[in-house]
Amino acid sequence: MDTLLKTHNKLEFLPQLHVFPEKASHLGSIKLQNPELSFCLKRPYNKRVRNGCVKATSGALLELVPETKKENLEFDLPMYDPSKGLVVDLAVVGGGPAGLAVAQQVSKAGLSVCLIDPSPKLIWPNNYGVWVDEFEAMDLLDCLDTTWSGAVVYIDDKTKKDLGRPYGRVNRKQLKSKMLQKCISNGVKFHQAKVVKVIHEESKSLLICNDGITIQAAVVLDATGFSRCLVQYDKPYNPGYQVAYGILAEVEEHPFDIDKMVFMDWRDSHLDNNLEVKQRNSKIPTFLYAMPFSSDRIFLEETSLVARPGVPMEDIQERMVARLRHLGIKVKSIEEDERCVIPMGGPLPVLPQRVVGIGGTAGMVHPSTGYMVARTLAAAPIVANSIVQYLGSGRSLSGNELAAEVWKDLWPIQRRRQREFFCFGMDILLKLDLQATRRFFDAFFDLEPHYWHGFLSSRLFLPELIFFGLSLFSHASNTSRIEIMTKGTLPLVNMINNLVQDRE
Ligand SMILES: Cc1cc2nc3c(=O)[nH]c(=O)nc-3n(C[C@H](O)[C@H](O)[C@H](O)COP(=O)(O)OP(=O)(O)OC[C@H]3O[C@@H](n4cnc5c(N)ncnc54)[C@H](O)[C@@H]3O)c2cc1C
Repeated sequence: MDTLLKTHNKLEFLPQLHVFPEKASHLGSIKLQNPELSFCLKRPYNKRVRNGCVKATSGALLELVPETKKENLEFDLPMYDPSKGLVVDLAVVGGGPAGLAVAQQVSKAGLSVCLIDPSPKLIWPNNYGVWVDEFEAMDLLDCLDTTWSGAVVYIDDKTKKDLGRPYGRVNRKQLKSKMLQKCISNGVKFHQAKVVKVIHEESKSLLICNDGITIQAAVVLDATGFSRCLVQYDKPYNPGYQVAYGILAEVEEHPFDIDKMVFMDWRDSHLDNNLEVKQRNSKIPTFLYAMPFSSDRIFLEETSLVARPGVPMEDIQERMVARLRHLGIKVKSIEEDERCVIPMGGPLPVLPQRVVGIGGTAGMVHPSTGYMVARTLAAAPIVANSIVQYLGSGRSLSGNELAAEVWKDLWPIQRRRQREFFCFGMDILLKLDLQATRRFFDAFFDLEPHYWHGFLSSRLFLPELIFFGLSLFSHASNTSRIEIMTKGTLPLVNMINNLVQDRE
């Protein structure tokens, strides 16, 4: 906020502005630290690049962005004591939602747990949105700070769909505090460092940290998100990328109903005066996702649902500025911004392997939507129960055998088949231009709620997913059917092939 006050207090839509070098370097950092993803984000944003991707029009907006605020929770964490040389039952690497959820539940069963993270008290940076029913099912309604009675989807200027499904924003401070509190009372110990290496022995593993400390554990859980620190992959990594730029802003006004969140706004009339960007958007479209908190406070995120390679961040920002101007949204100040790069689909990690995984590192992001928080939190008890069952009082299994059982419980055949179907969905989405994407979602949100809710929340499994596919096809316009058939045939053959090859 301080920085904000030191910079501008009004959003202007002017061409190039002066860019401070330190600001440019700040903008080069993204929330997802993955060297494979530097395709678009390490470029200074004030440079023009080929295809005219980078224009200065987003400069004024970006100058309102405050320096990254790193807020820590006020907890006295019980720290791991390396001098004792204890072998803990479980070492959790990564303190995101996935890692903390498993640490909390395994420690509740009386097992010793050490959680390793470079900043264990830091409030998670991402702005998480979920469907309210997903959090209700896990008794986590107290961890939503705002809920909307429904959501809207703008297909184009003429068609708007009202989705009668409540949506919520996760109160990440509350959720993390709640989980940390439970971990502390269950006896979890914390170690503030990065794991750099793992060495496996027959019945235990050694985790080497960047501070020189070694932690020994019977089971290692990799929960390092998309950085995929320890879990091994043996197939070429070829995901699609969801790329988004979001701001939590104070605005003079905005045109949205504050009872509804905007799930997708595919309108493109804001680009009528810029044919070059309009053409780019027609080929690889982006939409607006918005959470209106009040008449003058709103989270706005311009999003590329999925593309391979990902849409450059500067391109997304340029489209967002044009959209906000067209909607008459004047940004007065920005509380925080979010650069989102989510790898979607691609191969699963090697199944099984000695290190177990959960969350981003374990291929759990929904390949057609990029959502994962609710699915991961729901899967945490499965992973935790499995570890407790095999490592518990009987100590029946250890090492590779134990890890194999945990992986089996996390990725049983029906979940692998479900993911294969979602990857098929992603492969179709990757090929749709703006018009085809509109037709697709027009049909998708006309489906019975059971189907579209179930698809988005990973609740449908293979037999039902086939009915979902047929139902989508029957709701689609003739043009859309032809598109799905022509663009979906190869992905369909690939999916069938993969399904046939993957046996119990
Ligand atoms: C900007 C953004 C917005 C998103 N919004 C949504 C949303 O609205 N809804 C939704 O469902 N999903 C969303 N997602 C997708 C997904 O839910 C999140 O990425 C989620 O944070 C993943 O949880 P995680 O616990 O697997 O990993 P993370 O939250 O990424 O946590 C990983 C942790 O591991 C630590 N770590 C990394 N490497 C090491 C190491 N070597 N040693 C020790 N610790 C390490 C990191 O510091 C971090 O604390 C979003 C993703 C992003 C990037």
